[in-house]
Amino acid sequence: MDHGSAHAAPFLTVRDLRVRAVNVPVDPPLQTSRGPFRLAPLVLLDLRTEEGVTGRAYVFTYSPAALGPTAALAANLGPMIAGERLAPAALSRTLAARFQLLGTEGLLGIALALLDMAFWDAAARAAKLPLARLLGAAGDERVPAYASLRGWSAGDLAEESGRAVAAGFRAVKLKFGHPTLEAEREVFRAVRSAVGDGTDILVDPNQFFSVPEAIRRAHHYADWGVGWLEEPVRAGDLRGHAEVARAVPRLPVQRGENDWGPEGIAASLAAHASSLLMPDAMKVGGVSGWMEAAALCKAAGVPMSSHLFIEISAHLLAATAGRDRLEWLDLARPILAAGSPGFAEGSATPGDGPGFGLEWDEEAVARYAA
Ligand SMILES: [Mg+2]
Repeated sequence: MDHGSAHAAPFLTVRDLRVRAVNVPVDPPLQTSRGPFRLAPLVLLDLRTEEGVTGRAYVFTYSPAALGPTAALAANLGPMIAGERLAPAALSRTLAARFQLLGTEGLLGIALALLDMAFWDAAARAAKLPLARLLGAAGDERVPAYASLRGWSAGDLAEESGRAVAAGFRAVKLKFGHPTLEAEREVFRAVRSAVGDGTDILVDPNQFFSVPEAIRRAHHYADWGVGWLEEPVRAGDLRGHAEVARAVPRLPVQRGENDWGPEGIAASLAAHASSLLMPDAMKVGGVSGWMEAAALCKAAGVPMSSHLFIEISAHLLAATAGRDRLEWLDLARPILAAGSPGFAEGSATPGDGPGFGLEWDEEAVARYAA
């Protein structure tokens, strides 16, 4: 029998990593109950293989203070995988196992996720497939997207939300966690009158409230018709989230962006902490961690949305059976030459280039180098 045409393509072999740190301006700044973000500290990775295929990915370290250490951690992982066969999920597991005693959360978890995403990107590029298609999607899925707004005052948010609706968004998200409920009511009314009744309005206080205060406000949010309440209390307080969800069942509670790995998502599901989940591609462990989390959410019947990383999340959600919505907040846009998802009529579509399709704008990367 002739097996000639049935042989699998050979593995790529990891050569080395090129890691760069940039502080990208966030313009206009992103306002939150935890203060404004004027800069997005990003670590950019080019994973080079012996075969000439390069895998690319990026992560967001929130604080410039964490940027250098995360970049250094990622760079230090390079020699540990040089010469290895590039089997994305298997290589990620092997690498993580070497840090079992240290633990794989925090900055190390971010560095590991960065590599995982670059492994998958390289594998998809070698197969000449968009990542979504490598993961089994058709690639032309339309993923409902909402505009994550940056403003804080009623006036700014009315203007910004009006622009989002004019651009085709059918849902917007506001940062909440104002000192008083009255202030939030004013902001909500301004946005409602700017977007009209057909637009879903989601709110995110970024962990601002105690459990009793969250429950008190949640009753009002439900009366106003808020679409979901995101992280009302401290992210790690699963029981507190569950209490809020139980106390106000007509208001969906959303969380998940601060859960580490599929294990974190499993813990949230076990605690019935929320009726919706939105893992962060970086904190959940890259593509490998995302797909494990997606299986857990699907089996539990919990709709899954994304957090940041629109270029990557569009591919992941396209391949997620229980997908809900993509958070549209394009922090990396100033340093990208390609890779942005398509957007039309309220939905995003993953890019059709190979892998995530990310290409750096080298001039911008040099300009914003940390
Ligand atoms: Mg959030």
